[in-house]
Parts: sequence; C-alpha cells; structure tokens
Amino acid sequence: MKIIPENKLADLINKWRSDARHVIGPKNVHGDIVFETLEKDEQPCLDFLNTALPPKEFLFPMRETILNFVPKEDEWTPFTNLNEGNIVLFGIRACDVTGINLFLDQLFLSDPPDPYYGARRKSAAIVVLACEEPDEYCFCPSCNSGPALATGFDLQLIHIGDEYLVQIGSPAGERLLNGLQLETPSMDQVGLKNYVIDECRKKCRKVELEGVEEIIKDLWEDEIWKEVSNYCIRCGGCNFVCPTCYCFDMNDRVVSSGHSQRMRTWDSCLLRGFTRMAGGVISRDDKFTRLRQRFYHKLLFWKEKWGGPHACTGCGRCSRVCPGFIDFGEVVEKIKSRAGHADT
Ligand code: SF4
Ligand code: SF4
Repeated sequence: MKIIPENKLADLINKWRSDARHVIGPKNVHGDIVFETLEKDEQPCLDFLNTALPPKEFLFPMRETILNFVPKEDEWTPFTNLNEGNIVLFGIRACDVTGINLFLDQLFLSDPPDPYYGARRKSAAIVVLACEEPDEYCFCPSCNSGPALATGFDLQLIHIGDEYLVQIGSPAGERLLNGLQLETPSMDQVGLKNYVIDECRKKCRKVELEGVEEIIKDLWEDEIWKEVSNYCIRCGGCNFVCPTCYCFDMNDRVVSSGHSQRMRTWDSCLLRGFTRMAGGVISRDDKFTRLRQRFYHKLLFWKEKWGGPHACTGCGRCSRVCPGFIDFGEVVEKIKSRAGHADT
C-alpha cells in the first residue's frame, strides 16, 4: 500500500499520459458524470456518487464495426480498432469493476473468446475509486461487490482525509506507479481506510438476494410480472445502464458501392424487437414476458449457466433510471414475499 496526497493525483494522471497511455475517467458533462477521455492537462471529476453509465462501453462499445465485407471480390476482412494502445480506466466504482470481472469477462472471454472485447480488456488497466458515500439505491454490499474490492483491480484508491491510500492489486498496477516516490501508510492511515469503507457499507441499502433463485423458479406464471410490467414503458434504459448486461444485435449495412459492414450494437431484452425472428415472429411479444425474462436472467438463469453470484452488482442504476419507478430491490422483495405461493 502507498499514500498519495490529493494534490499529487494530477501528477499521477499526467505521468500515465506521458507514458502514452490513454486515460479515461469521470467527467462532469452538463451535470451528468460520465466516463470520457481525459485530454491533455484535464483532470477527472472526483466529486460524485456514481457515474450515469458504467465504463463497459470502453470494452464493449455501444456500436462497433466488426467486419468489413467486399462482396465483389468475394472477400471479407475482420476489422477492429485493436491498436488503440494501452488505456487506463480511472475512477471506476467497485460495483462496476465487479460487472467487468465476473460477468463481461465470463461472457466474452469464455471459449470461444471474443477478440474485440479481449484486445481491449488486455490493454486496460483498472483503477478503482472506492466509494465514501452511497445514494439511496446503492446495495453493493448485498452483492459482495463494494464499496471497495479485495481483489480484481490494478490499483484501488480510498480517500482518507486529504490523501488517498493506494492498494496495488497486480504487476500492471505496480507499473502504473513506477518512478513515483510514494510513502507507505501508517497504521493509523490503514485504520482510517477501514473506517471509511465500513461507514459507507453501513449506509448502503440492503437487498436480501440469498435464496431468491429458489423462489423465482416457481413464479413463471405468477401475476407479479404483469403487475410490475404495467409500469414499464419499454425504454430499455435498465439494460443499457447495467454493468452486467451484455446483449447485442448484429446488422449488416452498405457503406458504399462494393463495401458493406457488419455492426454490433447494444440491445435490450425489454425492447419488443429483441426476439424478432425471420418471418417477423416475436416470441416475447407481451411486455410482461420481457420484464420476466430480465429478472429471471439476473436472478436465476445466469447462476444456472455459469454458477457464481446473481447477475447484479447492486449499482442501483436500473432503479435510478427507470421512468416507471420499477425498483430492483422492491421486485426482489415481491418475489420473496411470494415464497410458498407458486404460480397462483
Ligand atoms: S427502465 Fe423501466 S421503463 Fe425502461 S425498459 Fe427498464 S423497466 Fe421498462
Ligand atoms: S440489475 Fe440494476 S442494480 Fe443490478 S447491476 Fe444491473 S443496473 Fe445495477
């Protein structure tokens, strides 16, 4: 562990840039905190609870070209921006890093691995900024994904007074600090770090997820899905803001005469066209079937397929963003209240 004074953080970020690293961090853009490239001399916004979107778009872009196709020559060429260089994802919350480590990596790096995601992931250093304060929707401790991480980062910064305690989680993290003369924290500073994290943890909302997978199994035909989906306006927001959602669509388009492209674009299981098949059949045409799919995927299907935790990191974004005020924690409570009332 090391200590870096607040007023030296800019030096650290400048050093990464001078090492030809592309630094991405939180910025205040018209009142929203979003991840963007930190241009020369630009410093991150550090006064925020969480960002509007998780940083997944830097590993899995909202829209990307994955193939160029030149039909006249009967030739296709894989195309991607794999040489963008090393990136530093700075200031990511623990819940969002868990989204990358346990969910996006599992999906995109399992055999056969996705080369586009894989190349970006390999070149990305992850610098966590542990939370000091949750908002009313945050429940990361219920998902073991925050407010700070035990592993799974290159560096982790915890704000203690007017300094940051820096935890080094990997050789890549060590390299990010190369050349800097940083002090080792005292016992008091380590104690303060634990206090900051514990206080934040205590303030987080609790969502009792344990055992929900056993209860939801019996609720496929339950009225709960129609009740809750009455408030859904099918905007897809809950999927797009979620650090564990990864669904995408593929489209081919003509760029110019003799040149076409295959595009990959984020998709949402709440949108009507998500299950549209050739011939126009939509297998989840009723809105409640799509909302049900989302909750079954988060609370049961992911666990059944991959094992491990539920597919939620407790970031609270889906509740925060939903125009119909559908709250993830309240739906979990409704599901749990149906225990023993299967399919009635
Ligand atoms: S954010 Fe709310 S309204 Fe929008 S699709 Fe999701 S559940 Fe429906
Ligand atoms: S389901 Fe909701 S609370 Fe859970 S990780 Fe996704 S956006 Fe965050």
